[in-house]
Amino acid sequence: MCKLCKIKPVIRLLSGVELCAPCFFKYFEKKVRKTIGIYKLIEKNENVVVACSSGKDSFSLLYILNYLSKTKLPFKVSVLAIDEGLKGYRDLSLLQKYCKNNKIPIKTISFKKEFSLTLDEMIKKTKMNGCSLCGVLRRYLINKYARILKANKLATGHNLDDEAQSILMNQLSGNLDRSARLGVMTGIYKDKRFVRRIKPLYFLTEKETATYAFLRKFPIKYKECKYAETAFRNEVSNLLNKFELEHPGTKHAIVNSFLQILPSLKERYGNKIKTCDNCREPTSSNTCKVCQLMKEIKK
Ligand code: SF4
Repeated sequence: MCKLCKIKPVIRLLSGVELCAPCFFKYFEKKVRKTIGIYKLIEKNENVVVACSSGKDSFSLLYILNYLSKTKLPFKVSVLAIDEGLKGYRDLSLLQKYCKNNKIPIKTISFKKEFSLTLDEMIKKTKMNGCSLCGVLRRYLINKYARILKANKLATGHNLDDEAQSILMNQLSGNLDRSARLGVMTGIYKDKRFVRRIKPLYFLTEKETATYAFLRKFPIKYKECKYAETAFRNEVSNLLNKFELEHPGTKHAIVNSFLQILPSLKERYGNKIKTCDNCREPTSSNTCKVCQLMKEIKK
């Protein structure tokens, strides 16, 4: 029974508390508001660009930010959507329709237009790992276009599971410098070419976000990307889910302990910033990762 109103519950939280749909909505939205408030993720009148993939996380985030943008913390919301060119998977038409119906400005960018090839074509040509390619190119485009749209903040739908996976992946592969770029508000470099990223869903689990999106009936096509199976992230996700089942609270413990050491990581890895010799984008080496990859792809 729902802890608060004693009707049929829709979810059992990690704490064991059961909630019905209206109480779960309140719980979920309060947690997002609290995260924004405590970490000062959004200031009054800021221009917030939401990076949307049209999945459950980004729809939940967009819905809540769009609602909050019209309350006593007024701010501007728009959407940035990336079409990687994944046949049978990425379909932004439902997101575009949702934005149109809710009067939210949307800007769509495609790999094909930006890099002359779709992600499918790049993978076929180079046999490179799809997710590594996708991640680097998508991050580059999102930052570039958020800057063009004059965003003060770039909001992403990363949840607690995503963050726990990233922390563990960086530990397992010895990439602590990458962990320094994680956190509720990311960014270790003070450089106006980097738009600061915020993660308002940071303390909500995958299960909670999926339940929220399902109950709110967002227009989502539940499909898995064909490259996800091969991803290192997928292996780590399975491992964490197994641990969470046997030792409830594991993911929260990973993220909360990480947040304690994050300031030291930012201090240690926070002052190397260069300009790419080729495209003039900010980078930590002489040639940015995107230019290195594009050179490889065009060989
Ligand atoms: Fe990109 Fe990998 Fe996600 Fe597919 S699973 S959308 S290739 S990051």
